[in-house]
Amino acid sequence: MALIRCPQCRQRMSSLAPACPHCGYSRDGSQPAVEEVAGLRLQRLKLWRYRLRMASYTAMALMLAGVIGWWLDSGLLAAPDSFAKIAMAVGVVAYLSLRSALFWLAQQIKATKKRLLENSR
Ligand SMILES: [Zn+2]
Repeated sequence: MALIRCPQCRQRMSSLAPACPHCGYSRDGSQPAVEEVAGLRLQRLKLWRYRLRMASYTAMALMLAGVIGWWLDSGLLAAPDSFAKIAMAVGVVAYLSLRSALFWLAQQIKATKKRLLENSR
């Protein structure tokens, strides 16, 4: 499978996909079914949800590594050293941004599922 650029919206799509998952452009000229486009979009969104979840666990682990390092270093009594500070700061910021991205993604998934459902009626 290769990635090609959609001639209509210039975003990346699979060379095997019958239609662009971003704009619905059909490569064989036929109009793609709405459920086909929505189904592809749902697959893509779910893949991103998985990736972002994994990344958020990594961010959480980094945060914990900072706290554990700080605890081992001084039992949380003295100011954290720079490793602990950086790990906690980067971990917290990354975790919060990933969680808000996941929140947005969950709404996209819900909307796409609704579209699929409405179309199958
Ligand atoms: Zn497109």
